[in-house]
Amino acid sequence: MLQSVERKNILVAGGAGFIGSHLCDFLLSRGDYVSCVDSFITGSRQNIQPLMNHPRFRLIEKDISDFEDFDEPIQQIYNLACAASPPQYQADPVHTMMTCVNGTAILLKVAERRRARFLQASTSEVYGDPLQHPQQEAYWGNVNCTGPRACYDEGKRASETLCFDLLRLGRVDARVARIFNTYGPRMQRNDGRIVSNLVVQALEGRPLTIYGTGQQTRSFCYVSDLVAGLVQLMDASPNPQSPLNLGNPGELTILELAHLVLDMIPTSSEIEFRPLPQDDPTRRRPDITRAKQVLNWCPAIPLHEGLRRTIEWFATTSGEMPQEESV
Ligand code: NAD
Ligand code: UDP
Repeated sequence: MLQSVERKNILVAGGAGFIGSHLCDFLLSRGDYVSCVDSFITGSRQNIQPLMNHPRFRLIEKDISDFEDFDEPIQQIYNLACAASPPQYQADPVHTMMTCVNGTAILLKVAERRRARFLQASTSEVYGDPLQHPQQEAYWGNVNCTGPRACYDEGKRASETLCFDLLRLGRVDARVARIFNTYGPRMQRNDGRIVSNLVVQALEGRPLTIYGTGQQTRSFCYVSDLVAGLVQLMDASPNPQSPLNLGNPGELTILELAHLVLDMIPTSSEIEFRPLPQDDPTRRRPDITRAKQVLNWCPAIPLHEGLRRTIEWFATTSGEMPQEESV
C-alpha cells in the first residue's frame, strides 16, 4: 500500500461520482482523511458504499453551491463536482453552469480561508471543437457560447478563470487539470457516454449507437491513470501556474472504438447510425508534453487492457450492487 509522509485532511467534491470515487479510494489507501461532498445528482451511493464504514472517510451530502464551511483543518480540496456526460449536464443546464461558477467560487473561498490547496477538474471541452490538433494548453479554444454544450464548456472555462485570478492574487494555491475522456469501472450504465453505451449495448445484444458518421475522434484515458495524474498535480511543488492536460494521447475514431468493442465482446449487436448532436467536437487528442515535463506523468494502461477491465466490470455488475473491485 502507498503511504503518505503525513496524513492530510482532504475534501473531495463530487467524490461519489465515477472519477471522484476512485480518487477517494486512492487517497484513503495512501492514509489520508477524506471528506466527500456530493449531492448525488449524477453520482451513486454504490460507488462509495464500501467506504461508508471506513474510519477515515465521511460523506457530506450537499450541493456544493450550498456548502458551508466546517470547523476542521483541510489541507487540500479537489473539486470534481459537476455532471460530465453530455445528456446529464444538459438535463439541467443552469444547474451545471451554476455548479461550475458559483459552486467553484464557494469551494475556493473555503480553500482561501483554510489555506488549502485547490485542484479544479476542468475539461478538454474548454477547447470546444478545436481548430488546433493535438490540443496544447496554450490553445484558447473554439467554443460556441450559446449552444447546448455551453453550460458545461463555458462553465468550466469560467471556473478556470476564478482559479487563476485567485492564484494571481496570491489568495489560493489553485491548480487546474484539463481532463480528456476518461473511462473505467463505475461509469454509470445509462450515463449516455460512448464507452458505457457501447459496452452495455454489446453486452445486452442491442444495436451499438453511433452518432453521425463515427469519424469524429476521441482519446480515452483509463481512470487509474487519470487519478494518478490528479494526485501528482495536487502534490506538485512548486505550483505549475498553468492548466495541465491529463489524458491518453491514443486517438481513434468512434467507429474504430465500436469495432474494438465488437471484437472484444461476443455479441449479436450491429452498428446503428443516429444523428450527430449539435456542436459535437470533431477531433480531440491531448498534447501531454507539459504533464510529462512538470509531473513526470504519463498514462500506463493501454486502451485494450482498460476496455477489458471495464467490460469485465459491466459484465459482472448490475450497477446496483456495492463494488469492491480494484482498478
Ligand atoms: P460524474 O457525473 O460521475 O461525477 C460527478 C459527481 O459530482 C457526481 O457524484 C455528482 O453527484 C456530483 N455533483 C455534480 N454536481 C454537484 C453539485 N452541484 N454539488 C455536489 N455534487 C455535485 O462525472 P465524472 O466523470 O466522475 O467527472 C468528474 C469530474 O471530472 C467532473 O467535474 C467533470 O467535469 C470532470 N471531467 C470528467 C471527464 C470524463 O471523461 N469522465 C472528462 C473531463 C472532465
Ligand atoms: N457518441 C456516439 N454514440 C453514443 C454516445 C456518444 O457516437 O452512444 C459519440 C458522441 O457523439 C461523441 C463521442 O461519441 O462524438 C464521445 O461522446 P461522449 O458523450 O462520451 O463524450 P464527449 O462528447 O463529451 O467527448
